[in-house]
Amino acid sequence: MSDLAINDKGEQKAASEFHDDFILHGIQHASFVCPFCFIGLVAKAIYIDGPQGKSPHFSCFPQKPHINGCDGYPLVEGKSVKGEKKSNKIIIGKEEFLFPEKLVSRSKPSQGKFLNDLSELIKENNPEKVEKRREGVGKEVGSAKYTSSIIRSFASSKKAIISLVYKYAKDEELSSEERKLLLKDTLSQAPIELDGYKTNYQVAFQGTKYFSTYKKIWNGEGVVKIKDGIVYILSGQDTEYKHEDNSYELSFYTSLKIPENIEEQPAYHQTIINRLLNAREKELVVKWFAYGMASIVLDKKSVLLSIDNFDHVFIEKV
Ligand SMILES: [Zn+2]
Repeated sequence: MSDLAINDKGEQKAASEFHDDFILHGIQHASFVCPFCFIGLVAKAIYIDGPQGKSPHFSCFPQKPHINGCDGYPLVEGKSVKGEKKSNKIIIGKEEFLFPEKLVSRSKPSQGKFLNDLSELIKENNPEKVEKRREGVGKEVGSAKYTSSIIRSFASSKKAIISLVYKYAKDEELSSEERKLLLKDTLSQAPIELDGYKTNYQVAFQGTKYFSTYKKIWNGEGVVKIKDGIVYILSGQDTEYKHEDNSYELSFYTSLKIPENIEEQPAYHQTIINRLLNAREKELVVKWFAYGMASIVLDKKSVLLSIDNFDHVFIEKV
């Protein structure tokens, strides 16, 4: 498996960027080649919508490995980055999982590097040229971070880590206490960077049971209400808030302003809006993730998490 590929338009990007383009904008490419030795590659876990136990990557076709000394990865100081220790890789039993470790902002489809003379390059391909290209990309991107602009990618990764831990615990017949510890330990070792703030998957996520003054990837479930063009998700669980020896049980609201020109929004945003409107119409409970800072409002009666970027919301399919 590898991270980089050139698509049928001659554009080079990372698997995670192709995945974001698909989720956010519905953009899908038919074919890929290795950016170094130009053999054909297969997109894996890139064009799927839903929680996944695999990170986006590229694989060779069966019996068609990389050629001319290539392994699909850039070279940094003469060494392939393939085997290097990665901070965003967890290993649970025999399973490996790569997760996004930095939230970035991408309003448009990401822009990769274009190779216009691909057919010419393929014609005069040899080990020296492959090495040169791998070194060139190594200098440019090195061991670039796996980033994403959508909270959904982080939420899906957390779920994938949880299911890998549960599977391992079952196989190894761990007690529920041991499984709990393993899960906490694994999530604590998975770094995540949000708005320049470095933390880990254990700390970054927060359910609505307790209040926090920090920016969090909040998650919960609740019913959808609409008032004056603003969608509110009212959490089914009250939030405990302690202040000056007093303890309060507050209602937790997540709010999103519905844009007027829904059709002009990125495909992902339209999906989120449609899921919310559908849930409201059918009075269904939605499971949600949203990134932001919550505040206490209405004279300590409610918590409000106001979201203005739909990339920062994930509503699970009902
Ligand atoms: Zn290759």
